[in-house]
Amino acid sequence: MSSSALQIVWVYPDLLSTYGDRGNMLILAHRARARGIPAETVEVFANDSLPDGDIYLLGGGEDGPQALAAQRLIADGGLHRAVDRRAVVFAVCAGYQLLGSSFFAKGAKCEGLGLLDLYSDRGETRAVGELAGVVDPELGLPTLTGFENHGGRTHLGPGAKPLAQVKVGIGNDNQTEGAWLGTVLGTYCHGPALSRNPALADLLLSWATGEDRLPELDETWTSKLRTERLTANGLA
Ligand code: GLN
Repeated sequence: MSSSALQIVWVYPDLLSTYGDRGNMLILAHRARARGIPAETVEVFANDSLPDGDIYLLGGGEDGPQALAAQRLIADGGLHRAVDRRAVVFAVCAGYQLLGSSFFAKGAKCEGLGLLDLYSDRGETRAVGELAGVVDPELGLPTLTGFENHGGRTHLGPGAKPLAQVKVGIGNDNQTEGAWLGTVLGTYCHGPALSRNPALADLLLSWATGEDRLPELDETWTSKLRTERLTANGLA
């Protein structure tokens, strides 16, 4: 951690904040504080520079705001510096696509940040609905669940590992969902993703704090939500 309190940075709430993805910030702060880890949340708008932080969160967005966010992040350079010092980046949907080398927005190919070895083009249909998959065993997480709503399809290069193998929904390309490498992780899951996948929230907290064994929390409500969603997906 770069200071005494965990710094959780919500990147561009004015551009990247569809489907309640801001909830990811609230959940991380809650799960840190519930364990006595001081956490501060910082919301950084697109006209401001990215500060030093421990965890950077990017959410979904429509095509126009997504393209603008990519331009601003490339010009700012703060997310690249954050990845160089192994800060955690967790990105959803539009935020995930713009971490790759390129993506399409409003019919135009746009330059991405090149922080994950992947690119996105457009699918023939929009991917809308529940999304669930079996997570890369290296991450040691239970089934990933969320919902997706995107026109893009994402293709991973050898330098990015799939986050999950798809069981329900489309994700990247009907086969894999999301990607990760080091402490950078992207997904198509909204939900918000970290409310539906608290173990994923804890993985990000572990990466950020260096604590491998975080104390357990009361999971009564999170497990009710997971059981309900997994049952709806025929995966319980
Ligand atoms: N604009 C992107 C797409 O449609 C991402 C959408 C989103 O973030 N929900 O593929």
